[in-house]
Amino acid sequence: MLYKAQRAISIEYFTVSRINMEHDEEGKLNRDDFDAGPSSFNEIEANLFLGNLTAATDVNWLKEIKMTHILTVDSCPLPRKIQECLPNLVIKYIQITDMPREDLLTHLEDAYEFINQALVSNGRILVHCYFGVSRSASVVIAYVMKKHKKSFLDAFEIVKKKRRFVGPNPGFIAQLKLYEEMDFGIDNTNIQFKMYRLQIAADKVRKAKILPQNCIDLIKPDPALTTVRPEPTVYRCKKCRRIVASASNILPHTAHEKQIWRHISSKRTSKEIKRVQEPVERVKKVDQTAELCTKIYFVEPLAWMPDIIHNVEGKLNCPKCNTKLGSFSWIAGSQCPCGSKIAPAFYLVPSKVDWSNAVQNVQVTV
Ligand SMILES: [Zn+2]
Ligand SMILES: [Zn+2]
Repeated sequence: MLYKAQRAISIEYFTVSRINMEHDEEGKLNRDDFDAGPSSFNEIEANLFLGNLTAATDVNWLKEIKMTHILTVDSCPLPRKIQECLPNLVIKYIQITDMPREDLLTHLEDAYEFINQALVSNGRILVHCYFGVSRSASVVIAYVMKKHKKSFLDAFEIVKKKRRFVGPNPGFIAQLKLYEEMDFGIDNTNIQFKMYRLQIAADKVRKAKILPQNCIDLIKPDPALTTVRPEPTVYRCKKCRRIVASASNILPHTAHEKQIWRHISSKRTSKEIKRVQEPVERVKKVDQTAELCTKIYFVEPLAWMPDIIHNVEGKLNCPKCNTKLGSFSWIAGSQCPCGSKIAPAFYLVPSKVDWSNAVQNVQVTV
């Protein structure tokens, strides 16, 4: 009995220490320095397996169980020999590290389609990462959420019942909660999703000191040049009346709000590890009933802001009369006088801009 208990503890310790290693800063550990441990997998629902890399490379097991699909959610693709031994196996690879600030969210729809295809064609699929604890578990939780219209917590419980040590990292938990808020899809108009993508872009700007090409779509068209269905409510430069933002470009915040979207710190404190195991962190929602702060207008990056692609921070001057309207900062962000802090931040000072709507404009013109 005692032996059994000790063994259980040592297995638990083994699992936890491995998880910690996996979550460590990128580059500190070489994946050749250790292996993913013994083959480990669980059937979460009929024909949907969740497991580790060892299971995914166990050709005999894959043959025996008649696996038809593998979804790899890892920093390295599966070794080529797997496909050579099993030429009919359908493989999909999503390259991702197990870091809280890594973008898993924008891959979830793709992953869902792949899993769903496998299952509706009466196939059998293994979703795996290195340990089958964080990345692949998050993908399977997202699948269960969308398939059965379950909240993150309910889906987490369902998966955990089948594989007791699943533990998405804190960043993935926040992303899965946002996925739930967006009704299990991507909603490009969702304010939190806009901030989420801006923060991913900011991480890239921090590293490269330039906005990468694949984030360019975050820069919205110049609202002054929009001729197709222009928005009725716009913000104009007070001095020269040029349109500088539309209502949909505003990223609203309430007074004393923390970040609209906050990636959970990648620094792994013991508190955070606890949070991994007890995912109670809630994604902060913009409270629709609370009064929105108008001390500063945080906006999306716009095409008339010339310096934002090549600089980490600077001024935002009116593109027509050159009056300073605000500032931007990719990395440090900005604090509103109300106490809210937003990063990255692109903001216009209310005393420099006026808002007006189309009806008023017509009256002015007439
Ligand atoms: Zn102006
Ligand atoms: Zn404010």
